[in-house]
Amino acid sequence: MTFRLLLTLLLLGLSVVAQPRTMTITIDDLPFMVASHPQYLPNAQRVTKELLRVLRAHRVPAIGFVNEGQLQVAGEVDARIRLLQQWLDAGMTLGNHTYSHPDLNSVSIEQYQHDIVRGDVVLRRLLHPQQPLYFRHPMTHTGDTQAKKDAIDAFLAARGYKITPHTIENYDFVYNVSYVRALRNKDVALQKKLRDSYLNYTLAVTEFAEKISLPIFGREIPQTLLIHANNLNADCLDEMLRRFEARGYRFVTLDEVMRDAAYQTKDTNVSRNGPTWLWRWMKSKGMNVSFRDDPEPPQWVMELYRQN
Ligand SMILES: [Zn+2]
Repeated sequence: MTFRLLLTLLLLGLSVVAQPRTMTITIDDLPFMVASHPQYLPNAQRVTKELLRVLRAHRVPAIGFVNEGQLQVAGEVDARIRLLQQWLDAGMTLGNHTYSHPDLNSVSIEQYQHDIVRGDVVLRRLLHPQQPLYFRHPMTHTGDTQAKKDAIDAFLAARGYKITPHTIENYDFVYNVSYVRALRNKDVALQKKLRDSYLNYTLAVTEFAEKISLPIFGREIPQTLLIHANNLNADCLDEMLRRFEARGYRFVTLDEVMRDAAYQTKDTNVSRNGPTWLWRWMKSKGMNVSFRDDPEPPQWVMELYRQN
């Protein structure tokens, strides 16, 4: 083998390994997504500690979206606010996910605006005044009428908020309901089966997001993962991040992802659903790319969820 050939092969190998992919991790329903836990605080403390330990170990600058309504429980207000402070102390940032997690489809513009305002009382105290403000709509429902969408968009902008998109979601709330029940029943085999399926499904939807961005943008775009602060992710996040890293992902801030040209595409979606922004951007660009291959969770997972 000549030196030149060896060098070519080496460079080829390097370019495969160094395939640059970026992702930002966004975690909703802070401090803790309840799924029929008898005791909120001990669960919330354990999940917060574990999520932050894993995020730090993988050097992930994540953002957590808060429902301040969760903080207002007599005797626990300080302890619950401390959970949010832990996110900031760990180098993460926080955003507003409304006070009480209302569905924009089923409340008025005024009610929703009220919930946004109540949703950042503690947040504005905790965040540095220079920090950008991010908002995520519950269920990513951004308006089922043009009037609602326009009014809330304008209201958020006037309060200094940027709307947070997502390009990958993995039904973690569905898996989590069965997972919490399996934890309660000490059903170790089912816990493992759910974790394995969840991780495989997460990677399948990630691959889909990578692939579908090609016909829409002509390239792979930075991805935004949406998951929740729950027991399932506390127990799966380490392995999930490992698998992302094996696909060449580097984790970046939401700010950085939002600067990408793809994220400047308008979202003109008006509907009762909360689809991924890849779908919204595709529609806004007047394209008609099929999302038929977007994977669904396995049938048994959906059936188990419906039994709860
Ligand atoms: Zn939520």
